[in-house]
Amino acid sequence: MISKIIAEEKIQTIQKKIEEASEIVIVTHQAPDGDAVGASLAFLHFLQFLEKKTTVIVPNMFPDFLKWMPLSQYIIDYHNQKAFAEGVIAGADLIIALDFNALARLGEMATAVKEASAYKILIDHHLEPEGFVDYIVSYPQMASTSEMIFRVICRMGYFTDISKECAECIYTGMMTDTGAFTFNSNNPEIYSIISELLKKGINKDEIYSKVYNNYPSSRFRLMGYALSEKLKLYREYGTAVIVLTQEEMNRLHYKRGDMEGFANIPLAIRDIVFSVFIKEDSDKRIKFSFRSRGLFPVNQFASIHFGGGGHLNASGGELFVSIGEAIEFFENILPLYKGALETEMKRQRNGE
Ligand code: 5GP
Ligand code: MN
Repeated sequence: MISKIIAEEKIQTIQKKIEEASEIVIVTHQAPDGDAVGASLAFLHFLQFLEKKTTVIVPNMFPDFLKWMPLSQYIIDYHNQKAFAEGVIAGADLIIALDFNALARLGEMATAVKEASAYKILIDHHLEPEGFVDYIVSYPQMASTSEMIFRVICRMGYFTDISKECAECIYTGMMTDTGAFTFNSNNPEIYSIISELLKKGINKDEIYSKVYNNYPSSRFRLMGYALSEKLKLYREYGTAVIVLTQEEMNRLHYKRGDMEGFANIPLAIRDIVFSVFIKEDSDKRIKFSFRSRGLFPVNQFASIHFGGGGHLNASGGELFVSIGEAIEFFENILPLYKGALETEMKRQRNGE
């Protein structure tokens, strides 16, 4: 039995707004990941079943390893089709925002969504959602937005109408946001939901393979280089840092999505409890990814110093400085967390 975690009032409001809407737009965060695309496409499948005119718009393109997902060919990439996307956003009467908690996560698409006259609903699992929508459905205890989408559809009474394709999208989001069920995935209900999705005919082993055994070789050249040449350990802080510059990424023929999950890798090193991946994006924009083990709160770390946020053990942020300045800035604040990091190292050693 899957419990009714989402409040009845939330379900009814979502249902009512969908019924009233004639032009629906689904938006998700920039650099869309498996959960962002999975939740968006799952809801697209469902809304198409309801015969609702629906468009999914992403701020920029999602990685190639998600292109197998059913209906992904209809996703509009705002970055490449700005005028068209802005017309669709302006013409919508309902915007459903999925898998992000702050308007800034929409990047250059933020203004268009902010200024749209549509009623806006957020369905998300990140902590502390900002009030950029009319109605917030936020459950940070959920491991993925895709899991929330499954729950919302079921609670609206449409479990039997979930198609195999919709189920595949839901499963993909649940899988990718938990590292294929290796973290943040102890809730037994996750497996009850998977069981239901399997009954819809999904092939979970095949989905795993499509997502995780489907990378271009450039990913592994970059990974090898990052780990052998660029991994720096700050042992006294239990911290690992990898920095990649534009020049390095270009030299190794970087493709979008190649660095997915790089931030997690150093956490597999004994006594490392904090992993930082620093990437030089274009225009002096430096993107930080933070990962931690145990109780070291990287969401706070990201929001205090890097204008970002996220989850307790996975977060991100950015600085608009040079790569050298970014590294220096990080190295200056790291000692402030010596105590907290030492505590976590002890906890991990004691198997807590
Ligand atoms: P990633 O390191 O994979 O880019 O992001 C990990 C998680 O951190 C994301 O799921 C998201 O919740 C959060 N995150 C990443 N970048 C940002 C950011 O710039 N702002 C905020 N608020 N959250 C971020
Ligand atoms: Mn997510």
